[in-house]
Amino acid sequence: MSWIGFRIFLALVAIGLGALISLLLQDWLKMPVVANLIGVASASLGLLVLDGVRGHRLLSWLRGNQESSAPRDTGLWGELGYRVERALRLREQALARERLQLQQFLSAIEASPNGVLMLDTQDQIQWCNRVAADHFSLDPQRDLLQRVTNLVRSPTFVDYLHQGLYTEPLMLPNPRGPGSLSVIVRCYADGLRLVLSQDVTERERAEAMRRDFVANVSHEIRTPLTVLTGFIETMGSLPLTEAERKRVIVLMEQQTQRMLTLVSDLLTLAQLEGSPRPGGDRWITVDGLLARVSADAVALSAGRHRISCEAKSQLEIAGNESELLSAIGNLATNAVRYTPDGGAIDIGWRLQADGCLQLWVHDTGPGIAKEHLPRLAERFYRVDGSRSRETGGTGLGLSIVKHVMQRHGGSLQIESELGRGSDFALLLPAVRVRAIAIAETETSAAASR
Ligand code: ADP
Repeated sequence: MSWIGFRIFLALVAIGLGALISLLLQDWLKMPVVANLIGVASASLGLLVLDGVRGHRLLSWLRGNQESSAPRDTGLWGELGYRVERALRLREQALARERLQLQQFLSAIEASPNGVLMLDTQDQIQWCNRVAADHFSLDPQRDLLQRVTNLVRSPTFVDYLHQGLYTEPLMLPNPRGPGSLSVIVRCYADGLRLVLSQDVTERERAEAMRRDFVANVSHEIRTPLTVLTGFIETMGSLPLTEAERKRVIVLMEQQTQRMLTLVSDLLTLAQLEGSPRPGGDRWITVDGLLARVSADAVALSAGRHRISCEAKSQLEIAGNESELLSAIGNLATNAVRYTPDGGAIDIGWRLQADGCLQLWVHDTGPGIAKEHLPRLAERFYRVDGSRSRETGGTGLGLSIVKHVMQRHGGSLQIESELGRGSDFALLLPAVRVRAIAIAETETSAAASR
């Protein structure tokens, strides 16, 4: 209402001025009608000029970019300027909020591990995240508004997109290298489509490994079971002498033992996979560990090999004792099993300059050809299957060793050459190694506290 009051005030001022002019002119012109007309005209003109100036100021501001404030006039024009500016600012704030929300939404899709591609009704790319660009070899900026079928030319992809039946995902070879992509399309709004892509290389590899594993386990168990069935049939159908019966029972025992060892190794692997990593607070003396492993190797060899063990390290390692014992024990057992009679087996340790500790087993056995080395720790991988089975091997020993080392933050190192023996070593990280002297100092310090 304030602007109406100001208007009335202005009108009164104009009437007053008009009346004053008319009075002055009446004396001078001696024509009252003309003087009155001039008075009214001057008052109206004054009002018009004032409105014109203020209206022009507001218009100039509106024609510009409205970054500065609207002209702060009083009355109608001031009120108009203020209201227009407020509406503009509110609109700008709403737009900025929406822009921020859109940006956050796009950043969230950008952060997705899956590819997202938005297509319009003409198959033109509206937007795509970096993962989709990587999956389909696109440029997120340059390829905007390009037809996706001109850029991703795989006929299976083009057919899938045009068929419109998107119930099952499409499997595509990854255009960037070995592996597969799973692609699925979702429709939204009026004919717009969302193409979602996922790299399933790792999943497929794991699935293939699982299938191989099950097939291998079944095969390994079926072989002794078939042999056992044969023996049972023989015992049931043929009259055997006492000596033959004893021999068959010994063979049956061997097959049963083979299955037991296999099941026990499988359980060890499952346990290693399912249990938490060993902590770094249980310390085991390296010398004790090596001495036990060496004693077991001597017993297994039964004098067939020269076995030496260097165990004066005065070191301790942190980890799970039974796991570490089984890991280094596996290497020593393999050395005994694969080294022909009369060969030499050395067991020892080496502290590297970076503080990592190597526990190694060296043998003068047949050695292993280079091409087998990278696959040696795979489950059921054997270089010489018959030698492995003859000596009671399951093909799981080195994969157990590798697992144990990974759980301790270390690794299994293998060096071997055909005809020149093999070097197997467990490499433990420096954080899991300490000298016994330090340990004792710490213990006595703790006791004196
Ligand atoms: P296995 O139970 O068959 O011994 P491992 O996983 O322990 O299974 O070993 C995998 C394969 O590596 C063995 O089948 C064998 O061919 C080879 N191998 C392991 N240790 C030695 C070694 N010291 N000398 C020669 N070959 C070895």
